[in-house]
Amino acid sequence: MASVSCSSSLNKAVRQQYMSLPQGGKCQVTYIWIDGTGEGLRNKTRTLDSEPKSLEDIPEWNFDGSSTYQAEGSNSDMYLKPVRIFRDPFTLDPNKLVLCEVLKYNRLPAADMVFLSRLETNLRQSCNEVMEQVKEHCIWFGMEQEYTLLGIDGHPYSWPVNGYPAPQGPYYCGVGAQNAYGRDIVECHYKACLYAGIQIYGTNAEVMPSQWEFQVGPCEGIEMGDQLWVARFLLHRVCEDFGVVATLDPKPMTGNWNGAGCHTNISTKEMRNENGLIYIEKAIKRLSKKHDEHIAVYDPHGGQDNIRRLTGLHETASIKEFSAGVANRGASIRIPRQVGQEQKGYFEDRRPAANCDPYAVTKAIANTCLLDPEDEEKSE
Ligand code: ADP
Ligand code: MN
Ligand code: MN
Ligand code: MN
Repeated sequence: MASVSCSSSLNKAVRQQYMSLPQGGKCQVTYIWIDGTGEGLRNKTRTLDSEPKSLEDIPEWNFDGSSTYQAEGSNSDMYLKPVRIFRDPFTLDPNKLVLCEVLKYNRLPAADMVFLSRLETNLRQSCNEVMEQVKEHCIWFGMEQEYTLLGIDGHPYSWPVNGYPAPQGPYYCGVGAQNAYGRDIVECHYKACLYAGIQIYGTNAEVMPSQWEFQVGPCEGIEMGDQLWVARFLLHRVCEDFGVVATLDPKPMTGNWNGAGCHTNISTKEMRNENGLIYIEKAIKRLSKKHDEHIAVYDPHGGQDNIRRLTGLHETASIKEFSAGVANRGASIRIPRQVGQEQKGYFEDRRPAANCDPYAVTKAIANTCLLDPEDEEKSE
């Protein structure tokens, strides 16, 4: 029996009695933010007198940053600035989830107080600045979030306590109790995303058993990061109900088991139009000259997490070199076959790790592909 948490086995029928009580016209708003690790999510809830119709109706709030690796105890009040509203799929209408940026006492973006490899943990502001500069290109992103289910003991969910499941092969997009471990979570998360207003594109079972994927997009500009962070919050929250844990570690099991990435699909208006492939190739050429810079921001530890995943095996390209190809799942960049045929569409950057910050990834891509063109112009 896989180990699940105690609270997941509390009597949910009793809970339902309270969840269906009328709430007297009041509205519960859950504020969500990214903590000082750059990976963790935190949340807390307050009551508003009426349902907020827009961001202006949701007040700024604060929290104790010294408890989230975001501030020193002596000056620990941090601001929560609401940036995007979603419906709450757990407490239902009219209640809301609101994604927030974290600002320091001086109203600058939050900095990391503990994990010194990252100076900023609120990357949304600088991402947004780049997205504003490239607005005319109507850049769309779609991100494929892979994750692995674990029991609360940290062992992959439903794997034998001693030993391993049968080798990879039958699990990818598989069906049947011997192949698909934990589908309830995937299906509940999907519905929760739809209810909340996440642009969820789809889901599938992954190559390693207990590993799954959902995709979000296409989303324009800053919306990609906002949507993926809240989709991750929903995943962790659904998993909590079931008493299991979703890890975004890019290589949870060593050995002959696939890692977990966050493939990022990209297109601009020009790429989506007739003969857009020319623009796709241009973007790939620019990316090829900035490989190391991109690897450094494709996980929260400057490449140290992704190095375990990007080995050149298990449908990855080596972290050390840049490569690109049509329909090539062993390359850094893949142009989907259909895009090659139609000569327009989008391309896929397969390098980002599952635990990447989507603000960092989309910012770097928009910056490299659409701004800062000097080198290229000189060499052409
Ligand atoms: P894969 O074949 O690599 O597994 P998926 O089907 O898992 O691809 O995911 C496709 C992703 O591509 C989705 O996130 C979707 O939103 C995104 N996408 C589709 N069209 C575009 C586009 N024109 N521009 C950017 N992203 C796109
Ligand atoms: Mn996919
Ligand atoms: Mn996948
Ligand atoms: Mn992919």
